[in-house]
Amino acid sequence: MLRAVTAAFFLFLSAAALPPRQPAFFDDPVSVYYAAGGEDDVDEDGPPDPGEAESRFARPGEADTGLRYSADLSDDELRRLWTDDLEALGSISVGFADQGRLINAVRMPQDQAWICQRPELAFGTEETVNALALAFREVHKQFPGSGPARLNHIGTAAGGYLRPHRSHQSGRDADIGLFYRDDKFPRAGARRERQMDPARNWALLRALVTLTDVQVVLVDRGIQRVLRAYALSAGEDPAFVASLLGGGSKALVQHARRHKDHFHVRFYAPRSQELGRRIQPLLAERPEQNILLHRVKHGETLGQIARVNNTTVALIRKVNHLSGSFLHLGQQLRVPLRGPCTRCPLPPAIVVPPRRMPAMSASVVATSAG
Ligand SMILES: [Zn+2]
Repeated sequence: MLRAVTAAFFLFLSAAALPPRQPAFFDDPVSVYYAAGGEDDVDEDGPPDPGEAESRFARPGEADTGLRYSADLSDDELRRLWTDDLEALGSISVGFADQGRLINAVRMPQDQAWICQRPELAFGTEETVNALALAFREVHKQFPGSGPARLNHIGTAAGGYLRPHRSHQSGRDADIGLFYRDDKFPRAGARRERQMDPARNWALLRALVTLTDVQVVLVDRGIQRVLRAYALSAGEDPAFVASLLGGGSKALVQHARRHKDHFHVRFYAPRSQELGRRIQPLLAERPEQNILLHRVKHGETLGQIARVNNTTVALIRKVNHLSGSFLHLGQQLRVPLRGPCTRCPLPPAIVVPPRRMPAMSASVVATSAG
């Protein structure tokens, strides 16, 4: 009986977006796992990498010139579905990768081409899930004998803060473990550069970049060096390789500390993101969705946060499953609002840039010319 209750409670906890280091009787399963020595293939705790902090580095974007990815929905139709048939809208990515949440999340399915190492954290936008499946299947097609790709965290079903990540909040980030030679996993602390399988890791990166809309990939420089050398030796277009792995701020693949054993991939989710912008003025029409994400700053109390946002301590406690009043610096709270959300961060209009593609090789040009 007690075990069943405990299991149910853990399920409940893992489905909720929990703030960090909550002084609860049970901590969430992820942090329990971390306390026991850490988890492979996910971002580790530590100071933020610029690549993770999307909200801080967002630029005002282009002038909002109308709808690009959800033009099939008029404003009236959007409002009708928002209030009467929310599920029909499909996935909605709200806010930023590091300050956001997810509505109508889609769960990564099972397939022989990949395994979900954390199925309860495999929720993302529809675009993210489709993109991952497409890239994994492509690698599997090229390497039929390969072990499955190893998908680790995307996010929780509601999005929001997921320990230990800065991002992974809006359904667009995924951690993917590296492929290793002969699918033999290195012991903890071993240098991954020597044991990674360059061919399959390059095939995965290439598939992600050319078949899907990737915003950024984060992986350690040492891993990048191996991939770059492999790609060039395999005859890939040097300009294409440089645009991905050439270093500098324009390269699609960026260095990040604590990313030595996995790719952290952030996807564009154009329709989900555009819907996320469009529903902001409608939030107050669905009280359970009328939420502001608030990161606790030094010296703040629940009472202050409630006052500033015109809500109550009781409501904040309830939504965040808090039993006491104890807050931690940096903790993310879901603040239920009672009126329109005037302080919700509104990301710039989403415009997906053209994919980076290799120049056609001589043989392809010859074939298409003949
Ligand atoms: Zn990550």
